[in-house]
Amino acid sequence: MAMLDQNIRLRYAPSPTGDPHVGNIRTAIFNWLCARHYGGSLIIRVEDTDQTRKVEGATEELLEALKWLGLDWDEGPDIGGPYGPYYQSERLEHYREAADRLLENGDAYRCYCSPERVADVRKEQARLKQPLGYDRKCRGLSSSQRAESESAGVVPAVRFKMPEDGITTVDDLVRGEVSFQNRLIDDFVVLKSDGFPTYHLAALVDDHLMRITHVMRAEEWLPSVPRHLQLYRALGWEPPRFAHLPIILAPDRSKLSKRHGATSIMEYREQGFLPEAMVNFLSLLGWSLDDKTELLSVPDLMRHFTIDRVAKSAAVFDRDKLSWMNGHYIRQLEDDALADALLEHWRRYPPREISELPDKSYLVRIVPIIRERLKTLADAAPLIRFFFTDDVEYDGDELVQKGMDAATTRQALSAALAELEELSPFDSGTLEGVLRPMAEDLNVKVGQLFGSLRVATTGLRVAPPLFETMELLGKERTLASIRKAMAKL
Ligand code: GLU
Repeated sequence: MAMLDQNIRLRYAPSPTGDPHVGNIRTAIFNWLCARHYGGSLIIRVEDTDQTRKVEGATEELLEALKWLGLDWDEGPDIGGPYGPYYQSERLEHYREAADRLLENGDAYRCYCSPERVADVRKEQARLKQPLGYDRKCRGLSSSQRAESESAGVVPAVRFKMPEDGITTVDDLVRGEVSFQNRLIDDFVVLKSDGFPTYHLAALVDDHLMRITHVMRAEEWLPSVPRHLQLYRALGWEPPRFAHLPIILAPDRSKLSKRHGATSIMEYREQGFLPEAMVNFLSLLGWSLDDKTELLSVPDLMRHFTIDRVAKSAAVFDRDKLSWMNGHYIRQLEDDALADALLEHWRRYPPREISELPDKSYLVRIVPIIRERLKTLADAAPLIRFFFTDDVEYDGDELVQKGMDAATTRQALSAALAELEELSPFDSGTLEGVLRPMAEDLNVKVGQLFGSLRVATTGLRVAPPLFETMELLGKERTLASIRKAMAKL
């Protein structure tokens, strides 16, 4: 059995059936971190044999998501490798060969039952409260019975002969020994009548041919393992080691679903989450370094990621924690990197609030005053849109602060205007130096004066720090906005 060393080969085997779900991406990240930790290889294999569920473009989108997260792989559909092709739909002859071998050795048989008959059998079993599954009708067909169906033109499926008794035990690297009673598992289809394999056969044949040493995947696949182990036995192949990752639940302990918010990794990207935060967050869904460490960079994760620290118990997808983490990673970005991240985000998802991409040199000066307020990149545009337009929209009433009226507000703004017209240099320190004492002279509260000026210059009640904002707007634009505000009163 392969040891955990640089020869390990792990695979991530997505089915291109829709948007990449965060749970599925967690599987990719775990396989990647594990491969990198031990210096082994990560293989991506696209499980696209279910033609009815295939979604156009899903593979491309998935690879794009993985690249965005910073994952890399050693073999895969886009880069090839020594065990390709890496699309199952291009490997059908391998599955047929394996099915033929099972048939020849008497480990499988042709089944001529119609889908309707199989469904009726299950219905009847459900009514009688019996274990559900195929009733093995075709397992004992004589050659003349088979010939009869063949001549009637029925195209058979191939079913595997599960042992009718005994126990199959898997020694899972996460869950320990888990045993299954063979009699509860039916003779499952390995090759469908259309010549396409089922998941069981295809995944197993490829894991073997691609020399996969460790299969790490979601717990929902654990019940498939006895089928796979019996297939390995019948084919005379050595099975890989298995590690089944704990289920991911919503905070209310129900299954994570749309109702709890975004489930596609692409939605998180659109909402302005950073890849560093996503990787950190997802890597802690079922794995931990210790009881307390939450913030782990990719190099840290690679250094520490071992299978023995994967948990058995369910992981909880806590969005508040993700937001907190994202805020942390945003604060870690230097001005230049944060400006780049915002521009890249806006390029991909043009914000409603900003019609044209701003100059990076200007944005780099703005980011320091908003960095602390961002939980996501998407928070930025509404907060700083006024920097990029001279038509800030707001209602004149917004200017009037609590305890003031239009006349006193106008008076305050006009006094500020007179003062600022003469001001030089027009920087935040100097601005604060004149505006603070001015409130007292005007006999208004500092909060009242600053509140009116804030709305006048930004159109917002909650905005970045006032004096820095004015400095960045510059004298001319600041004065123009105050004049405009006065006209509204
Ligand atoms: N194609 C399966 C999926 O989409 C992979 C199952 C496995 O890893 O064996 O989840």
